[in-house]
Amino acid sequence: MNIPFNKPYMSDREVQYIREAHANGHLAGDGPFTAKCQSWLEKTSSTQRALLSHSCTAALEMAALLLDIKPGDEIIMPSYTFVSTANAFVLRGAKPVFIDIREDTLNMDETLVEDAITDRTRAILPVHYAGVACEMDMLMQVAKENNLLVIEDAAQGVMSGYKGRALGSIGDLGAFSFHETKNIISGEGGALLVNREDWVERAEIIREKGTDRSRFFRGLVGKYTWQDIGSSYLPGELIAAFLWSQLEQAEEITAMRMSAWQTYHILFDHLESQGAIRRPIIPPSCTHNAHMYYVLLPEGVDRAEVLAALQEGGVNAVFHYVPLHSSPAGVKYARTHGDLSVTDSVANRLIRLPLWVGISDQELQQVHRSLKNALGCEDDYC
Ligand SMILES: *Cc1c(COP(=O)(O)O)cnc(C)c1O
Repeated sequence: MNIPFNKPYMSDREVQYIREAHANGHLAGDGPFTAKCQSWLEKTSSTQRALLSHSCTAALEMAALLLDIKPGDEIIMPSYTFVSTANAFVLRGAKPVFIDIREDTLNMDETLVEDAITDRTRAILPVHYAGVACEMDMLMQVAKENNLLVIEDAAQGVMSGYKGRALGSIGDLGAFSFHETKNIISGEGGALLVNREDWVERAEIIREKGTDRSRFFRGLVGKYTWQDIGSSYLPGELIAAFLWSQLEQAEEITAMRMSAWQTYHILFDHLESQGAIRRPIIPPSCTHNAHMYYVLLPEGVDRAEVLAALQEGGVNAVFHYVPLHSSPAGVKYARTHGDLSVTDSVANRLIRLPLWVGISDQELQQVHRSLKNALGCEDDYC
């Protein structure tokens, strides 16, 4: 039995809604399905305004435009993240400043932020890795004291919370992803959460090619004109129709992923107590969405060999993130602050295991067995 790393979840309803969109003839963005998705996101995330975008990358680019980033501005972020976190700001001439991550959650180490601030710093950019929240109370406090903005990269954090609040709704702006590798999907897709009333209108203009077309459609202005810089960041209605079906099932999707996540967590308890791996750590302040199950290998274990052995056992596991500070563009466009030894170590030791809606107990057990064998732990007590 071959177990894929990811299998996008789809029901029959996505096609039904795409048919509806096809029948009602509204194919451009901001039709009825986009409106439904946005008001669902606004309700479940308690944000001022949710705006669908064609990706999380696009939402982050909109964030950079909203911040009026100028060349030389600095944004503090982890190096252990996806390229878009940095790219969106580098496109506006900003310099990412990478700090190290925490050993437990693999999130930005909030105690390192203050020391990385200079007079060019504009924003802090926490990334909620694996849908597990960064330490937002402290990050918001540091931002407030230093007059900085907070942009949450909540690409992996749809349906996750921190002390009862939805990820993406805590900073000034938040960005979601609906890419097919995430929990709630539309192929490509994303959303910008605008958490401040005073930025809503400009966010709408930036998303609509720099025009006030949204105001025009609400009958607030007689014609729409070029108002600001902007681009085309909205998805078409077919994508929104697909997404609407997923959002309607968001609770069930999350529950099904959580059940697989918990099964792994119990199966791997013994391997962890033998010192053969480390399992994910979820702080009590976080409710997560089971986006990812990963294990950390001990120092000195050859990960490539483990991945090859898993592949032989029919398990398609993968590693994650070549840290941005050690990638060619990271060297060129960013700088690091302090030592990134946790980042470097984690990036060499992490393995992501298959996790998707519908993965069977049998398959989860096969993953466990294969990893056990790959680590040379063949006794029953592993
Ligand atoms: C997936 C991801 C993105 C990019 O999302 P897209 O929707 O593919 O643009 C950005 N940041 C993080 C942390 C991600 O995991």
